[in-house]
Amino acid sequence: MVSMLANSPFLNPQMMIPILISYVILFAIAVILLFKDKMNKKVSIVILLASIIVPGFILGSGAHPVFAFQQVLLIMSNAVHNPNTALMILPTMIVFLVILMVFTVSTLIFGRTFCSYVCPLGSVQELTSKLIIGKKVKKHKYVIEIPEKFANYFRLCIFIGSIVLTLIWSFALFSIINPFNAFTISTNILNLQVILIPIILFIIILVSSVFVYRPWCRLLCPFGTIAWLTSRFSIFKLRRTDKCIQCKACEKVCPTGEAFEDSKKSECYQCMRCVDICPSDAIKYKKK
Ligand code: SF4
Ligand code: SF4
Ligand code: SF4
Repeated sequence: MVSMLANSPFLNPQMMIPILISYVILFAIAVILLFKDKMNKKVSIVILLASIIVPGFILGSGAHPVFAFQQVLLIMSNAVHNPNTALMILPTMIVFLVILMVFTVSTLIFGRTFCSYVCPLGSVQELTSKLIIGKKVKKHKYVIEIPEKFANYFRLCIFIGSIVLTLIWSFALFSIINPFNAFTISTNILNLQVILIPIILFIIILVSSVFVYRPWCRLLCPFGTIAWLTSRFSIFKLRRTDKCIQCKACEKVCPTGEAFEDSKKSECYQCMRCVDICPSDAIKYKKK
């Protein structure tokens, strides 16, 4: 398993540290801007571009939470089917488990800031939506709204299905359908048969982001499902203050229906559409 990881065309182990460092830097910048009330459309576009370019296309985005999720499951499946190799692969499993845990714990403290501004694939979808649709996500004639219940049942089925497939049959769904791998295009350009499916998926996601707000994040991404379950308990989130005049303008622009009062914000991508439209500057990123 260790050698399989080292030979993966989508993970250069030497790049893991620089990728994780770039994630930490972008995350820290995003959190500081949120706390200082300086995150707005222009600033967010710069950060989204930085995450697409640096951890994304330059570093290849290898150590992302979807990869960590799939590797943990694959290693568990390998240990179940070949118990004599279990001890050998334990250190690799611990590394990916820790990576996945760190991403998950971040959602319990800061909400979905990683998904909002740091994840290269999330940033591609957010940027497409911001630049083409702008703030009229709910009213734009091209936009298709996904019913919340459908999205949640669908993502749970995919999430549970991917766990069952990997643990029982060692079928790694998110190794096969993983648009993150398109970020490795510069290193895999001569390896077209390997990169073709990720690139096709990436293009499908890019185009569908014009019509559906963050389609991969809300319907398919396994870390999206984990973050949806955990970020409702986050300490910091966008909350209304006493300045609110109940105009409901924020609710009309929120692409995920999370701007209402007392929302748990489990599906809030900190897109700042509600903050930007609020006439009384009543939405702040804060503790209760
Ligand atoms: S839900 Fe998945 S793809 Fe979307 S931003 Fe989060 S980690 Fe990235
Ligand atoms: S837009 Fe601002 S003032 Fe209006 S309901 Fe939302 S938080 Fe309150
Ligand atoms: S509540 Fe809605 S509009 Fe406001 S930041 Fe979250 S997702 Fe965007």
